[in-house]
Amino acid sequence: MDVSHLLDELNDAQREAVTADEGHLLVLAGAGSGKTRVLVHRIAWLIQVHHVSPMGLLAVTFTNKAAGEMRARVGELLGIRPEGLWIGTFHGICHRMLRMHADEVGLPDTFQILDSDDQYRLVRRVIRDMEHDEGQFPPRAMQGLINHHKDEGRRPQDIDHFDNPHSVSQVAIYRHYQDYCERSGLVDFAELLLRTVELLRDNPNRRAQYQGRFGHTLIDEFQDTNRLQYALVRLLSGEQGRMFVVGDDDQSIYGWRGARVENVSDFVRDFEPTVVRLEQNYRSTQTILEAANRVIDHNDDRMGKNLWTEGETGDPIRLFSAWNAEEEADFVIARIQDWIEAGGNPSETAILYRSNAQSRLFEQALLREGIDYRVYGGQRFFERAEIKDAMAYLRLLHNRNDDPAFERVINVPARGIGERSVERIREHARSNQCSLFTSARALVSGQGLPARAARSVSAFIDKIEQLDEQTASASLGDTMAAVVGSAQLGEWYRGREAPDRAETREENLQELVRAAESFQQPEEDSQAGLSPLASFLAQAALEAGEHQGERWQDCVQLMTLHSAKGLEFPLVFMAGVEEGLFPHQKSVEEPGRLSEERRLCYVGMTRAMKQLYISYAESRHLHGQRVMSRPSRFVDELPTHLVESVRPRSSAGEAGAGMGRMSAAPDTAPDHGLRLGGTVEHGRFGIGTVVSLEGQGDNARVQVNFETAGSKWLVLAYASLERLD
Ligand code: ATP
Ligand code: MG
Repeated sequence: MDVSHLLDELNDAQREAVTADEGHLLVLAGAGSGKTRVLVHRIAWLIQVHHVSPMGLLAVTFTNKAAGEMRARVGELLGIRPEGLWIGTFHGICHRMLRMHADEVGLPDTFQILDSDDQYRLVRRVIRDMEHDEGQFPPRAMQGLINHHKDEGRRPQDIDHFDNPHSVSQVAIYRHYQDYCERSGLVDFAELLLRTVELLRDNPNRRAQYQGRFGHTLIDEFQDTNRLQYALVRLLSGEQGRMFVVGDDDQSIYGWRGARVENVSDFVRDFEPTVVRLEQNYRSTQTILEAANRVIDHNDDRMGKNLWTEGETGDPIRLFSAWNAEEEADFVIARIQDWIEAGGNPSETAILYRSNAQSRLFEQALLREGIDYRVYGGQRFFERAEIKDAMAYLRLLHNRNDDPAFERVINVPARGIGERSVERIREHARSNQCSLFTSARALVSGQGLPARAARSVSAFIDKIEQLDEQTASASLGDTMAAVVGSAQLGEWYRGREAPDRAETREENLQELVRAAESFQQPEEDSQAGLSPLASFLAQAALEAGEHQGERWQDCVQLMTLHSAKGLEFPLVFMAGVEEGLFPHQKSVEEPGRLSEERRLCYVGMTRAMKQLYISYAESRHLHGQRVMSRPSRFVDELPTHLVESVRPRSSAGEAGAGMGRMSAAPDTAPDHGLRLGGTVEHGRFGIGTVVSLEGQGDNARVQVNFETAGSKWLVLAYASLERLD
């Protein structure tokens, strides 16, 4: 059998890793050096050359998007779709195992995943129920604390509270919250992992079963695993299993969420792997790579490595200082337009930012220019209010004990059930240790509610029961359509919101029906005995926003720096690179956090293959007021010889190019003979005056103030301007 295609296009070190014959392996290497590629080839190599059954492999990646790409690439290399192969995120894999063994871990078959927003609401509800002061126990902080304990593997009884009254109350909140989840069959993200670890730790038969099954465990982005994930990996691999781990300490960016880069050294200690280092970068130009190396060099807590590339020198890194955030957005979008005009695909471009709120200005500018875009990680599809409402109905169909779902839709659409009646239902549920649904039913039949509320509650209960009956043997798509039709959410929103907003919500609801219709249950899920409905609900909770599929392919990619990990794009914009925003204010005071921000900067820069733009604004709206800002310290850390400052795009004579702000662009670019102030003619826009010039060769651009068409930026290589002077 010819397997050379599995090794072609690999360098010696990569080949060594892919073909390693025995023992565990650690690939420790910088960005773009082919770690993910090596992991994918390793899977194919094991299946094709060592005849390892796909069922015997477990591959873990960081996002569902990465998992999807990995699956596709393994499939391509093998020429078939490997059936039974488990590739997924830690959460996805744990979810699947818990579904298969729900009874053993004390969960109902219908258990639901609690996403972070629902978790927050539930924590807040618990704090209120316990009559604690929300000032003293802020729900957001309590949510973080609970998750932190879980990430460290601690149940309430494992926590030392040293009889400190505040800590005692915190533990009590954690305990109540957990009791609530148990009663309602709810599992938060951290719980998915903790339960699975407990299952494998406490049940020798299960442990033996999985250790026997997974002869090979492969993990990407290992530097961002937390304590619990590492414990899970150790339990799964056991004594016999072989580990193949890839990571980069310089890209550890989830310390704030409990990730431990120390897992890398623990892994070396615990598994004594062969360590392979990759030093050649295949992604970025020399300029981008050198600049990124120089920035990360300012961290002193590094394991240390250097990357080189045989690639071309490439363009300088372009630095843009914007007057304000709006101008920054306009500038970025104008460059993207240049890219598209020059024949580039919008999907080759990414706008990266530190915090989600920054996406709005870019979205507005993109909408205005009619350029398709997709936001990862922001307001995700499955996090929109109307979608969560419809999903809450679906969740109640699946599991009547899902209290957060009940709370969400008991009076949505409004049916005259007031807060006091809901509080009655809650009280009754608390004292009878039952779910809200059961409590509501009991109160209705026991005349425990005012007549009007009782009628409405009863109608709500009937609606859910009827829907359940009606859809018992329906397909997922039909069930979803029935839910959306019966819940009348669209009508409700129409009655209380501006028409265009309500319309968007209705479109989203239709999109949800389409998503359900076209939902393909993953093979592994059906093998694990999950119903399509259960799979769909889990997927919605686990990979919010990632289902949108094909028609989003040709669009500009917007995402936070965090979600860009592992990805690559020919043209990258890092926006809002300002002190206080990036590095984030909170991290400036803590040295450990500051190096994590710098790693994030390194991650951002190394996403770029060909061109990298870094921009900052001198003022922007933050928390409702306009603040002045100064460039990030990371900008100062860029080596000056690799950077070119570019002129702002001045719109309609606004303070711009003429202000004499930083500019390294030459006043004339001799290769095209244009000069500032010169007169030119363009086929479509007519006659105008050159107001600025930047870049050279293929990248030379000119800004012309046209007499009738106004101010435009044009790429000289494509614009065919005629000089009139
Ligand atoms: P990151 O740290 O950002 O996750 P990585 O180390 O996982 O990066 P990959 O994404 O696997 O790197 O590879 C970076 C790019 O280099 C990809 O486009 C990949 O296809 C390409 N590449 C990797 N190795 C080679 C090689 N030997 N020959 C040609 N191209 C390669
Ligand atoms: Mg990678």
